[in-house]
Amino acid sequence: MIPPDWLVSGAVMHRIGELPLHVRHPNSEDCQMVQPVIAGNWKMNKTVAEAINFASSLRNAFPTPPQVEVIIAPPFTALHAVAEVLRGSAVRLAAQNLHEAEKGAFTGEISAGMLREVGCTYVIVGHSERRTLFGEGDQMIHRKLRTALSADLKPILCIGETLKEREEGRMQNVVERQLKEGLNNLNPDDISRLLIAYEPVWAIGTGRTATPDQAEEAHLLIREWIAGRYGGERAAATAILYGGSVTPKNIADLMREPDINGALVGGASLDIGSFVQLVGYSSIPEV
Ligand code: PEP
Repeated sequence: MIPPDWLVSGAVMHRIGELPLHVRHPNSEDCQMVQPVIAGNWKMNKTVAEAINFASSLRNAFPTPPQVEVIIAPPFTALHAVAEVLRGSAVRLAAQNLHEAEKGAFTGEISAGMLREVGCTYVIVGHSERRTLFGEGDQMIHRKLRTALSADLKPILCIGETLKEREEGRMQNVVERQLKEGLNNLNPDDISRLLIAYEPVWAIGTGRTATPDQAEEAHLLIREWIAGRYGGERAAATAILYGGSVTPKNIADLMREPDINGALVGGASLDIGSFVQLVGYSSIPEV
């Protein structure tokens, strides 16, 4: 039993708010608190035919389930067809968005129930493109989280600062505000069903990845924030993914960080060869 004011973050156990006392190697067995997750966000890419092709190749690439939770998020139009291809496999399906209402006069929107029906297990909520291009704010994101959770979908909550906010030294403020307002007193049970993706906006689709140290700093902050509200044990069990120009070249270094439990990948998830390498990141040789 971990005391409530202590936090196990990957390789490290320490009192919340204090620096870690010691670091064990992140790959040692005592660090496997969370199953690693590799998730591909296709955004507005791939026709149904292309999506089916990709899903069949992915299925064939892993005749036995990989050690990591593999998730793909095709566009809405391909979800049903991809679910059929993946039926009985270990690959899970995510939607890229949902509407906060259960049903009604919301032209062009998709409900949580519809996503469950076509076979989604996960849903991405609050992606920075939704926040910046479609005006989604923290309150709406919170309502979407609640809707997803009550439909038994596991939300992947995306948070992260813009370049301006980072340069002004506001990364911590922004991340903590997004957590506070996005989660907004969800109960501990709900917290155990969601994943968090730290995606610095300046790294998304730009080819500019956060360094492992930068990413780890933000991930530890997120884990400590969760520990402060929900206890160290809950925090240790929360999957915190990094997103922002992850590729087969940089994934292994990122995944070596104790608080990085996985990756949410856009561009590099579109090509089957590159996605298969991302899933198998643990066998990419160190350079
Ligand atoms: C994303 O869209 O969530 C993302 C991280 O994109 P990319 O990997 O292309 O930066």
